[in-house]
Amino acid sequence: MNNKAFYLETFGCQMNVVDSERIVDLLGNIGYRQVDEPGQAGLILLNTCAVRDKAVRKAYGHLGRFKPLKDRDPTLILGMGGCIAQQEGKQLLEEFPYLDLVFGTHNVHRLPEMVQQVAEQHVRCEETEFLDRETRLQLFPVRSGQEAFTRFVTVMQGCDNFCSYCVVPLVRGREISRPSGEILAEIRDLARQGVREVTLIGQNVNSYGTKEAAELSFAALLDQVNAIDGIDRIRFTTSHPKDLSDELVECFGRLEKLCWHLHLPVQCGSNQILRAMNRGYTRERYLEIVRRLRNACPEIRLTSDIIVGFPGETEADFAATMSLLEEVRYAEIYSFIYSPRRGTAAAEIVDTTPAKDKQERFDRMLALQQEISRQTWEADVGTVQEVLVEGESKLGEGQLFGRSTWNRIVNFSGPAELAGSLVPVRITRAYRNSLLGERVLP
Ligand code: SAH
Ligand code: SF4
Repeated sequence: MNNKAFYLETFGCQMNVVDSERIVDLLGNIGYRQVDEPGQAGLILLNTCAVRDKAVRKAYGHLGRFKPLKDRDPTLILGMGGCIAQQEGKQLLEEFPYLDLVFGTHNVHRLPEMVQQVAEQHVRCEETEFLDRETRLQLFPVRSGQEAFTRFVTVMQGCDNFCSYCVVPLVRGREISRPSGEILAEIRDLARQGVREVTLIGQNVNSYGTKEAAELSFAALLDQVNAIDGIDRIRFTTSHPKDLSDELVECFGRLEKLCWHLHLPVQCGSNQILRAMNRGYTRERYLEIVRRLRNACPEIRLTSDIIVGFPGETEADFAATMSLLEEVRYAEIYSFIYSPRRGTAAAEIVDTTPAKDKQERFDRMLALQQEISRQTWEADVGTVQEVLVEGESKLGEGQLFGRSTWNRIVNFSGPAELAGSLVPVRITRAYRNSLLGERVLP
């Protein structure tokens, strides 16, 4: 008799989070239940990320930690999925003799059969081929109900942008948009289950529908989501600046449910590097979009991704990124030191900048941004913000947590019944990663 408990670890972006929710459902259908302790599991799966070398090393590190469990119990099934699995394929089985199964980003639906095969026939298996468009359109993940007030909804998959540093187009395949009717039906269903906030996700949601005949534009899709009863808040990620239409900018001024936050990765502030990155916009064009967004919605706050140390980045290029940060004043940034990825165009460029210079630039940038972020959040103290309460916080009994429209965590005290509602909270303190407040009673 097999041990039908499974342990699942998820790395990386929202795509993997959604795929992991799907994995939980699929394995549930064949009688597996999820456990929190790898030691209790008969099946251990890692859903991996390949976007930077650090993420890859972390996944391999975790895989290695499970080897002693397998040595102790040879019936334990060890599997790897996600973006590393997609990129490495069969090679992983050769490299890790204790690994039993490898499934790619287009093959999640095959997992139940693969697991059964390994368990019953004691074979090792690998499936990492990309599927054709029609088949993929049938396989958009709809997940079963979970007790949550906020959910991700996938609107598109894959990426055709080929930014020169990025492995995503290689491991997630070509871009496809999910039919809008299906998206809206899923959101209506979520609203009926009590979900109050949806985040529409995809690698590049702004190009939603542009490659399909007779599909809604992304802005028109937002209009329709805005009309769904029971949904109070809408977010979306990720946005590519080159595809951000005027129609979408206007949504921020027009749609009352659309949150006042946009993650708009700029990557860097120098035109020469933006060109080498194949980003498809200039610094000037990006700043123009920011101006339009702020005209449409003066309260909007932006966040961004920055890559430091792209091959050929000079001190002057880096200074352009620093001045852009000062000009835009992002609420928060996610910054990374460039990591060469096999198969990408940038991996071929000779990189002469010493690692210590990159680290030093990275530290300088972090110091600048930390100060800007601190000023942004400290200015919140004394204001009243509407918080969507997600549940009880870990801070103690009677403590609740939720998020503001700007996606900041707000902690305050109140009765547990407030979970799922929008509550006005006066901010009393600002911390690095959260705000503290008091409920404003009507
Ligand atoms: N589709 C999204 C997310 C891409 S990956 C987007 O276009 O924004 C998330 C972030 O990882 C990117 O925005 C980029 O800043 C960073 N990233 C991607 N490839 C990288 C690499 N090779 N080295 C360092 N950072 C990278
Ligand atoms: Fe990668 Fe660029 Fe596609 Fe984002 S838009 S996933 S950074 S290739």
